[in-house]
Amino acid sequence: MIRWILDEKFVEILWRIKKNLRARRTCGTIAAMPEKTVPIMDYEGSRWREEFWRGREYEDAVERIALNAFLPPRGKRLVEIGAGFGRLADLYRGYEQVILLDYARSMLQDARERLGNDPRFIFVAADLYNLPFADNALDTALTIRVLHHVANIPNAFAEIARAVRPHGTYLTDFANKRHLKALVKYHLRRHDGRGVGAMNPYSLEPYEFVKLNFDYHPQYIRENLRRVAFEIRATRGVSIFRIGALKRLVPTSFLVSLDANLQSPISNLQITPSIFYLTESVKNGDARLNENLWRCVKCHAEKISMNGETMHCGACGAGFFQNEGIWEIKV
Ligand SMILES: [Zn+2]
Repeated sequence: MIRWILDEKFVEILWRIKKNLRARRTCGTIAAMPEKTVPIMDYEGSRWREEFWRGREYEDAVERIALNAFLPPRGKRLVEIGAGFGRLADLYRGYEQVILLDYARSMLQDARERLGNDPRFIFVAADLYNLPFADNALDTALTIRVLHHVANIPNAFAEIARAVRPHGTYLTDFANKRHLKALVKYHLRRHDGRGVGAMNPYSLEPYEFVKLNFDYHPQYIRENLRRVAFEIRATRGVSIFRIGALKRLVPTSFLVSLDANLQSPISNLQITPSIFYLTESVKNGDARLNENLWRCVKCHAEKISMNGETMHCGACGAGFFQNEGIWEIKV
């Protein structure tokens, strides 16, 4: 039955039932995009908390349910990469050190205003492709609502895999290019003579629907995780009811409870807009956490000495500084 639903024929039947369905996608805004070899989505100066999350209580709630189910409850060090304004920070209460990392300093300022009194939190402005962390320095790493802005998934995964210790956890979600609406839209176009359009949801390559906004095929993400020795331990299909009309008509609490009950059972279908993976690092080596947290982003040495609000690299002499509670650790 499940396999049948996944078959293209199922989508053709849907086409006959509902001819005029229109798939609509929303995406973030690009606040700034520095000239780099790999472009980076930068939310500097954006009013993400106020503007994006208003009306998205359903998405926020169902993502938290998936994270609560997946997150190892305790550990020494956790980093959330692309943590933004710290929306999910309250979920990390079981960790001794919580590093909220983002490319955009202004987002971290927002996070610090709300969380800065808690000494467990460290705020870091840095680049995902060149993390300021030593090898095996993290028990748990997360990228939530981040991969859809990542132009080079293999490099990003390799860098995260380096910093997570053997048997540590990497938890991520991604925007699924073969979600149900995309499948329906694809077959509608095939049948009404408009052609198939730019996006084939069955193909494996990333689909950049707006500059620096990518949807991924689950198999593409799985293969890239496997290449860096992240083994998938559990999957959840999230936000199946992310449909404007439905959200307006049905009470949020009801949609959330339905979503929560469906996340595991429907995960194999791979038709939800968002998919969450819980992975474990199966790379070789000592499973103990590296006591050193930092490494130099210029020369990659771990010879870092700390002095108040200054970080100094003993190998290349580079210095990095904390400014109003936020470490700036970029090349
Ligand atoms: Zn250095």
